[in-house]
Amino acid sequence: MPNERFVKTACPHDCPSACALEVELLTPSKIGRVRGSAANSYTAGVCCAKVARYAERVHHPDRLTQPLRRTGAKGSGEFAPINWDQALDEIVERFTQATQMYGSEAVWPYHSGGNMGVVQRWGLDRLRHAFRYSRQQTTICVTPAESGWRAGVGELRGCDPREMADSDLILMWGGNPVSTQVNAMTHVARARKTRGAKLVVVDVYRTPTVATADIALIVRPGTDAALALGMMHVLLKEGYADRDYLGRLTDFDDDVERHIDSWTPERAAAVTGLDVAQVVDVARLFGRTKRSFLRLGFGFTRSRNGAANMHAVSCLPAITGSWQHHGGGAFFLALDNWRLDTTLAHGLDLKDTGTRILDQSRIGAILTGDKQALVDGPPVAAMIMQNANSANVAPDSRKVAQGLGREDLFLCVHEQFMTPTAKYADIVLPAAMFLEADDIYYGLGHTYITAGPSVLDRYRESWTNHEVVCGIARRLGSKHRSFDMSAFDLIDETLRASNRGTAAQAFDTGWVECAESFDSAHFLDGFPTSDRKFHFKPDWAAIGPNAAQMQALPSYLENYEAADEEHPFRLVAPPARTFLNTSFTETASSRSREGAPRALLHPDDATHAGVETDDVVVIGNRRGELQLSAKVDATARPGVVIVEGIWPNADFSGGLGVNQLIGDDAIPPNGGSAFHDTAIWMRRLQ
Ligand code: SF4
Repeated sequence: MPNERFVKTACPHDCPSACALEVELLTPSKIGRVRGSAANSYTAGVCCAKVARYAERVHHPDRLTQPLRRTGAKGSGEFAPINWDQALDEIVERFTQATQMYGSEAVWPYHSGGNMGVVQRWGLDRLRHAFRYSRQQTTICVTPAESGWRAGVGELRGCDPREMADSDLILMWGGNPVSTQVNAMTHVARARKTRGAKLVVVDVYRTPTVATADIALIVRPGTDAALALGMMHVLLKEGYADRDYLGRLTDFDDDVERHIDSWTPERAAAVTGLDVAQVVDVARLFGRTKRSFLRLGFGFTRSRNGAANMHAVSCLPAITGSWQHHGGGAFFLALDNWRLDTTLAHGLDLKDTGTRILDQSRIGAILTGDKQALVDGPPVAAMIMQNANSANVAPDSRKVAQGLGREDLFLCVHEQFMTPTAKYADIVLPAAMFLEADDIYYGLGHTYITAGPSVLDRYRESWTNHEVVCGIARRLGSKHRSFDMSAFDLIDETLRASNRGTAAQAFDTGWVECAESFDSAHFLDGFPTSDRKFHFKPDWAAIGPNAAQMQALPSYLENYEAADEEHPFRLVAPPARTFLNTSFTETASSRSREGAPRALLHPDDATHAGVETDDVVVIGNRRGELQLSAKVDATARPGVVIVEGIWPNADFSGGLGVNQLIGDDAIPPNGGSAFHDTAIWMRRLQ
């Protein structure tokens, strides 16, 4: 087409792929198609279907257009338009009042993964640090997995995931990339095509990724560590362990060996629900394949024993020494690769380490006055939320709704749409989307920092997150120079200070390559731990405050919410393919593909409960209950109910979604939410 013009940018969403994108610009304010960059070797020309249809989201008629002030009851969604000066003046007045009444820690700036930008997400931290507002422990997504990985490996980095293309075996554990991180499958497909590689998937139900696997291992929720221990038993007993590697680069000793010796395949099978032969066969396949790439996801860590699960599974390549081979080793997430100096962008020079830290996942407990969750400090009296829809996303959402609905809480929500959380706000601010804002993004699933310049005219009266942070901070009187800088200039200084080039270079190329050398990525020169060794015996106390609940050796912990007579089912609440957290729940194409909130039931359970597909069932526990349609097929294991997607609260007759059933207790040792660890009852609606 003669007027076709594709411009470079990058995806900001909460997805490790952080795709380098090309966007068709039809006019300065209108986009057409979106595609993955073919020139980026991880994105490899692919992006997910929901972002390929981004025109539907960015040009959605329901986008917020102007600042709003609440006129009705909290949560009613009744607002009247105001201008930006009025909105910012009111925010500043209420933050000042809260500070005068209770001290500065009564103000809690809160951000989450709606946008993952170095500036447009984490820039809110500059505001908190400048005024000694409460800090945030960002636990809702990665913390349990991170804790388990750090326990053994030391840092959040590992083998270059592009090496999967050169592997002979990809062991995909607790992840569903076909639905949630499609680019990973590109590299898996290359290995299968060119090397005849095998794909083994471990999960708790038959996901679309499981459907593509050569070998699928469907385990009982929360039992992954038992499978890993059973596999390690076979590897050690049958001579697949690399004893030289274990001696040189790990703390493996007789205690570890004796402990693993107790985990026979029979014991592992009894715990996981697998056959003994499945445990033995996958161990042998892993043991005899030098180029075995362990790709770890998040799913199996969103359980009260999640950190222990991650640690046990991460021990597998240390037993075989597969870290030593190209196409071998393991990868979970790149968070420690970047070594960006964010002192200026995140206001670290302003940080007072004496201010309290509140757990993001425990927002319900915090806002309802739980003393422990408040760290024995003052109540939270004022908040600004960016990139966050906690009314839907946070666990124990009944408690969250109660907290957000407090009449004495001042809440400002900066959002793109009128989300369930925005409905509780006193002031709602219209937010720019990523196509309208400059930023850079950590490629958490690969080795690039991707660069996302603004490519589209600003929509109506929307402001970027950075502009709102600067506007409030200046009105409150901060003279920190970052509040007078553009996002572009902040990015430029950040990259320059980190020896990662300049913003102009990054935006011109579309990314900054940060891959490490082979030896470093494979830890051939030692693991990034105190003694340069992989730890079978972690120092959990160094990972988090609740180390007493952890075990000294790789362990299957039985601290999860087990089924009982009253709650005979385990509930797992994984992501839906065309939603991303609660983003895209507003687009018609995503909603029509997902259909409606559904409970997936195994046929045996359905027969026992007298339930057929499309019947309405009620699921619940002591935290709440909700109604949704049943879908009966063998996707789910017996005894396990799967509810995919975080559907908006308004899609449920009771006004609260599935997260009302999820507990908000912190996963040991360092926090996080047990989204896939819930016991429930289920009955057919009469
Ligand atoms: S959501 Fe993930 S797969 Fe989709 S475009 Fe963004 S980074 Fe890529």
